[in-house]
Amino acid sequence: MTTDGAEESTMQENEAPDMEHAGAVSTQPAEDASRASAARVNVEVRDIHAPAVPTEVVMATEGMEVYYGSFRAVHPVDLDIHAREITALIGPSGCGKSTVLRSFNRMNDLIPGARVAGTVRYHGEDIYAPDIDPVEIRRRIGMVFQKPNPFPKSVYENIAFGPKISGWKGNMDDLVEESLQKAALWDEVKDKLQDSAFALSGGQQQRLCIARAIATSPDVLLMDEPCSALDPIATLRIEELMFELKEDYSIVIVTHNMQQAARVSDRTAFFNVDVQEDGMRTGQLVEYDETGKLFTNPSDPATEGYITGRFG
Ligand code: ADP
Repeated sequence: MTTDGAEESTMQENEAPDMEHAGAVSTQPAEDASRASAARVNVEVRDIHAPAVPTEVVMATEGMEVYYGSFRAVHPVDLDIHAREITALIGPSGCGKSTVLRSFNRMNDLIPGARVAGTVRYHGEDIYAPDIDPVEIRRRIGMVFQKPNPFPKSVYENIAFGPKISGWKGNMDDLVEESLQKAALWDEVKDKLQDSAFALSGGQQQRLCIARAIATSPDVLLMDEPCSALDPIATLRIEELMFELKEDYSIVIVTHNMQQAARVSDRTAFFNVDVQEDGMRTGQLVEYDETGKLFTNPSDPATEGYITGRFG
């Protein structure tokens, strides 16, 4: 049985995460006020953001709105998710980040009264079209939640379960190993595949959930605050893993941690809460840009206010 503490000490001794590529851009405070402001809250932005060539758009929303009953949770959202990049959704609580994320794989379908209007495309196809199977959508667009939620089964069965029920016929041992390898967990669990998933540390459980999502061959991974229940070392491990995964997957992450968004993402979407005259609070996409640009030279005063810690 491994505990969080055990994982932490193992990692400190043997596997200090390589943060070489997460180094800070040297900001020149005199250069402009926004840079200075971003520096004040100690947001470090990696210098790998601007892609040299336009990248493929894997998902796109066009005028997407989400309602819970008659309440419109978000104003129309137009957002492109680029292939093999990490896109962060940030903003104050209640601005609709999770709502928007869930609309990307029809997870909102599972909430009574929730309804999505407008269009959400995946490789150009409208995922809300009548002939689309939401289960297949969720297989292709996997989701990882805030709190690690392994099944009450063995490590092995956690990975094998999804492929089994979807009728997958290949070599299950190979698939389990490959999925755990990709989630950077294999070495830690290869001798405890039959142990309960609950015997793993919180960070390991979250990587198991990532391995479980990977096992159904998605090409998009949605992550809803995947590190908020983890300690700093386990958090760093997941961030490192995200870097590895983006070679093969397009990742969308909701995070309330601006430092994390700045560290890991290529593009950032900032949402805010629009408070109307009648007191109705509706989420709104304010600004979407390459992460380096958004954190150092935002176009909208509301974005600057948020990233400099003036509200939220
Ligand atoms: P965030 O992730 O940015 O904190 P959410 O997407 O959770 O924001 O919430 C956006 C808005 O939608 C909020 O006003 C919230 O109260 C509302 N909301 C979220 N989930 C539900 C739900 N299941 N039923 C009704 N309203 C909801």
